[in-house]
Amino acid sequence: MVPAARAAALTEPPIPKRALMRDPLLLTPGPATTDIAVKAAMLRDWGSWDDDFRAVTAEIRRRLRAILGPAGTDYECVPMQGSGSFVVEAMLGTLVPPDGKALVLMNGAYGKRITRTLQVMGRPPVVLDKGDYLPPTPAEVDTLLAADPAITHVVVVHCETSSGILNPVEAIARVVAGHGRRLLIDAMSSFGALDLDPARIPFDAVVASANKCLEGVPGFGWALVRRDVLEAAAGNAHSLSLDLADQWRHMEATGQWRFTPPTHVVVALRAALDAYEAEGGLPARGARYEANRAALVEAMAGIGIRPFLEPDVMSPIIVTFRCPDDPAFDFPAFYEAVKRRGFVLYPGKLTEAETFRVGCIGQVWPADMRAAVAAVAEACAEMGVSLP
Ligand SMILES: *Cc1c(COP(=O)(O)O)cnc(C)c1O
Repeated sequence: MVPAARAAALTEPPIPKRALMRDPLLLTPGPATTDIAVKAAMLRDWGSWDDDFRAVTAEIRRRLRAILGPAGTDYECVPMQGSGSFVVEAMLGTLVPPDGKALVLMNGAYGKRITRTLQVMGRPPVVLDKGDYLPPTPAEVDTLLAADPAITHVVVVHCETSSGILNPVEAIARVVAGHGRRLLIDAMSSFGALDLDPARIPFDAVVASANKCLEGVPGFGWALVRRDVLEAAAGNAHSLSLDLADQWRHMEATGQWRFTPPTHVVVALRAALDAYEAEGGLPARGARYEANRAALVEAMAGIGIRPFLEPDVMSPIIVTFRCPDDPAFDFPAFYEAVKRRGFVLYPGKLTEAETFRVGCIGQVWPADMRAAVAAVAEACAEMGVSLP
């Protein structure tokens, strides 16, 4: 984490950095509000076959791998077209072989999607279902792995974005490695802000996408895969277009993507990586999001709106709040009233309680979070919702 003085210096939003127009701020889990330089990078056209674009591809692959730190040199970065779910599917289809068996640690919508993806590709997993708001424990994983030697892979979501819960990947990674099994991580909503050092957290692959904590725009994701694992994975994939091993081989041989790359999105990510590194990389980005979350939770407490999760499992990525307990509260009307005041919130995704979510990622600062909470209070007053 950066020193407190540095984080405090970032409490004021440098507004000209993010807006061409006065768009509402996106307090969502991505796509997020982007830096002006990220938007501007998309004003040029690139030939996908051209040397200049190949150089951009090589550069972003190198810079994404560097985010893993010094132990990242055993990994290869394989970009993949599509939204984040495409690269999750590519990771599962390429790395869980047809005769493999995955254990999915599920505690929300993204774990469910992983389960469904494996079912659709004909590799049905074993599932540990923790419901909506509890983390899988290392002891549970240990028991399941001891009981079933056929399990080859464990799949975990780092930050389960549907509630904002932070799963204990480091402790789980140790258990998985202790059993000699393989760990695959969906770090879509945490990569770049929360540490995933392979020296402490042994894993075969991690996936993420351009439009979350790296603050690029949507259109592709990437897998960081151990080189030996990728070499052994040829021929596993259930799909031609989602074959990470084939994409990697082709990229290594030609410098090109196999099929049309999202050129503008790739150069936008390069600009986003410039902004990321200028900010101070992972520790600084993580500290800003932490400061955003702290400002948000504190200001919400000030108007009587409480987070759904316990503080010890709450991520600095997105926070789920309980809706005010008043029959006058109506989420669609609330959403519109807050949006008119300049902030886009996110609906809740939990079955057991009425909730809404507020993202802490993107080009937003603690002052924005406090302003958003002021907008929430005004919206409630407008709807006739009484806050305690
Ligand atoms: C965003 C996200 C994904 C991918 O979602 P897409 O809508 O396909 O981009 C996957 N897993 C997690 C945890 C996410 O937050």
